[in-house]
Amino acid sequence: MAGEPRRPLVAGNWKMNGLMTSVSEVSKIAAGARDLAQRVELLVCPPATLIAAFAVTVRGSPLRIGGQDCHSEARGAFTGDLAAEMLKDAGASAVIVGHSERRRYHDENDTDVRAKTMAAMRAGLMTIVCIGETRAEREAGATLSRIEQQFHDSLPVAADEKSLVIAYEPVWAIGTGLIPTTADVAEVHGFLRKQLVTRYRSAGEAIRILYGGSVKPVNAKELLGTANVDGALVGGASLKAEDFLGIAATYG
Ligand code: PEP
Repeated sequence: MAGEPRRPLVAGNWKMNGLMTSVSEVSKIAAGARDLAQRVELLVCPPATLIAAFAVTVRGSPLRIGGQDCHSEARGAFTGDLAAEMLKDAGASAVIVGHSERRRYHDENDTDVRAKTMAAMRAGLMTIVCIGETRAEREAGATLSRIEQQFHDSLPVAADEKSLVIAYEPVWAIGTGLIPTTADVAEVHGFLRKQLVTRYRSAGEAIRILYGGSVKPVNAKELLGTANVDGALVGGASLKAEDFLGIAATYG
């Protein structure tokens, strides 16, 4: 079905990096986002401590600010956690859920990820749901079955292109400098597109699928030019405005 072309999204995951002094870096990204706004949407997800300051800094620019995780409940006795509504209140318009580092270090499973996704959508945040296979799963030939299971178990029954973005992030490619072949990326993204259309019908054509895992300015053209890749989720290279904008400029 031929609908509107999907607007590319390049999202930065700052992980546990950044202090108030990083406001100058996000200002540079916001300035670059203005120049690229016709062709690509940009999002920076700093640690929660910086969301409010970054949201004020980038006000009036097309750069969006997001969180890196949220709780599945809106409030309550969950010491140290943050509700999606709180991220929104601080100035976030998006949130990443199900990142492999959350799955690994906080034991989050697909059921948790689905609950967080629904909470984020209820709060009106654009939700980037991360899925991807481990090295062992790829070597065992289980990539697509793992992706299918994560897709099935992590995603809500209803979603559209405003509420949901998928990030395919092979766990073994995150922070390692290793990347899959473009054929492997195309295979997984094509598979995900079919799953999206089956589940969400016409909205499934419009929902963006990002690639994440060691994206750098030097490999961005190849990765972002692959079929059904609608942008990138970028970790390490999103911390420097020059590198992050260099990746986004692939759409320039
Ligand atoms: C990530 O953390 O989502 C990520 C893709 O990291 P990196 O780009 O550093 O591999």
